[in-house]
Amino acid sequence: MYFPDASDQDWHSWTWQLGHSFNSWEQLQRIIHLSPEELLSAEKKKKLPIRITPYYASLIDPEDSNQPIRRTMVPVYNELILSPEEMADPLGEENQSPVPQLVHRYPDRVLFLTTGVCAAYCRYCTRSHMVSKNDKVHSRIAEWDTALDYIRMHPEIRDVLLSGGDPLTMSDSRLEYLLSRLRSIPHVEIIRIGTKVPVVLPQRVTPSLVRMLKNYHPLFMSLHFTHPEEITPEVENACKKLADAGIPLGSQTVLMKGINDKVEIMKDLFHHLLMIRVRPYYLYQCDPIPGSAHFRTPVEKGLEIIKGLRGYTSGYAIPHLVIDAPGGGGKIPILPNYIEEKNEEGYLLRNYQGKSYLYRETQEI
Ligand SMILES: *Cc1c(COP(=O)(O)O)cnc(C)c1O
Repeated sequence: MYFPDASDQDWHSWTWQLGHSFNSWEQLQRIIHLSPEELLSAEKKKKLPIRITPYYASLIDPEDSNQPIRRTMVPVYNELILSPEEMADPLGEENQSPVPQLVHRYPDRVLFLTTGVCAAYCRYCTRSHMVSKNDKVHSRIAEWDTALDYIRMHPEIRDVLLSGGDPLTMSDSRLEYLLSRLRSIPHVEIIRIGTKVPVVLPQRVTPSLVRMLKNYHPLFMSLHFTHPEEITPEVENACKKLADAGIPLGSQTVLMKGINDKVEIMKDLFHHLLMIRVRPYYLYQCDPIPGSAHFRTPVEKGLEIIKGLRGYTSGYAIPHLVIDAPGGGGKIPILPNYIEEKNEEGYLLRNYQGKSYLYRETQEI
């Protein structure tokens, strides 16, 4: 291994993991054999640098540059190719931000961008334009207080989604500062944390973190899983601790070409997620951030995957397929067409096997 001096205790420490992240080509080259596409990329300077925790890097195949986990983390030359539909802030979050760090798009809930720090940099990141700006520095408390005031003054906000960056890169006490203030606002009914940390840095899910989080129920967590190879014993254990603390876990998965764009891979991922008590929540069409065309599938591909799941596996294993509309329209669900026709009798529906069924609409009495 690349860290001959690391003790077992080091390896299991989340701060050691963060402090020893891979963030240069020189370091990466010591553990993986770079492909021509990766080498070409290494010569150029890119907007989004590299960051991979030692734990997550240990899952990378050193020889196979097409390995899914490797492709999501190691830059390739294609990142420098821009397509006309791509934008730095595809979701138009900056236009729907009433105060810094808050996105208020939907009537009853807000997205709170708590920090720009992430434990690992996904090459397809929707917020790559804000992640890593200030590499390892978290936001100042004063900036949060403005956002907290906004939430306090808006009684229609019943759901606060903490994201970033990744909120779980912060210390327990910083997180608790936020959670306790949010909990003291009577109209905030639920709090959610969006994070990839349990996947790329499962060591972060310590008994003390979990004990703290438990005090702020109802608290939900949206994890970010991409491929079944991410579900290791360490990750399983982290999810068990969170689920045992009563935190409902969901997964948001991004559909990506050559990485997880097959029914069989998705089914395998979603089945494994259910076994570690994570419910697939959203399946996203890959957002058009600059240099992401090599990841994007045709919309038809997502529909084909949903079609291949519905009826063939548990409904719990099927996420909502959504496109986050460019320009700030929000998440729009897309579904295979199960309505063949609507006529005066009712609906002619198609089931998963392609057979037609008439549902007669009840007449008013
Ligand atoms: C995704 C998102 C939410 C949460 O959406 P849900 O469908 O409720 O999970 C809220 N605000 C913004 C800006 C979002 O992008």
